[in-house]
Amino acid sequence: MDAVAEDAARRPRLTVLAGPTAVGKGTVSAAVREDHPEVFLSVSATTRPPRPGEQDGVQYLFVSDEEFDRMIAEDELLEWATVHQVARYGTPRRPVEEALAAGRPALLEIDLQGARQVRETLRAIGWADAVFVFLAPPSWEELVRRLVGRGTETEAERERRLETARVELAAEPEFDVTIVNREVHQAADELVTLMTLGTPSGRSL
Ligand code: 5GP
Repeated sequence: MDAVAEDAARRPRLTVLAGPTAVGKGTVSAAVREDHPEVFLSVSATTRPPRPGEQDGVQYLFVSDEEFDRMIAEDELLEWATVHQVARYGTPRRPVEEALAAGRPALLEIDLQGARQVRETLRAIGWADAVFVFLAPPSWEELVRRLVGRGTETEAERERRLETARVELAAEPEFDVTIVNREVHQAADELVTLMTLGTPSGRSL
C-alpha cells in the first residue's frame, strides 16, 4: 500500500455494528468500551425503561416519549427505529460528529433498520469513510441456544424471535465485513483493529 492509501486506511472511521438479536452486540460493545477507551462508543437514546444495573448516560440515555419526539423534531438523531415493536432507540448526532472531528474512531451499535438508515444518510452527504460490520453467531444452532437459553419466553414468543433472527441473518450480504462472535474479547479486538487500521485487503478479516 502506498503512503496515501495507508493514511486513508488509518483515518478515523465511523463503524456501524449490527447483527441478529441475541448475537451479543451489546456485550461486544461493552468489551470495546472496557478494553479500548480510545474508541468513542455512541450512547443511544431509548424510550425503554432501564433494566436493573443500567445507569442513565452509560448504557443508554433513558428518555420519555415526549423527549424522543422532540429529538426527532429537532433533527438531533442520526437515525432512529422502533425495535422489537416495543421501544424507540436513536443515535444522538452531535456526540458522534464531535468524536469524529476530534479524530476518534466512533462505533454505533444499532439494529438493522438503523444501519440501513445510516447508510442512506451517509450516501446522501457523500461520506465514504464508514464501515458496516455484521456480527454473526458461530452457527445457527449457537444463535438458537443464545436466543432461547434464558427459557423465560413462551413457545409463541420463542418462535417469533427465531423467525426474526432468520430474517436478520439473511441481511449479512448488505454489510462490508462480517465478524464472528466466538469469544467476546476476540470479537472486540477484531472490531477495533478494523476501526483503527482498516482492511487493506478488502472485504473480510
Ligand atoms: P436492548 O434494549 O436489548 O439494549 O437493545 C435492543 C436493540 O436495540 C438491539 O438490537 C440494539 O442493537 C438496538 N439499538 C440500541 N441502540 C440503538 C440505536 O441507537 N438505534 C437503533 N436503530 N437501534 C438501537
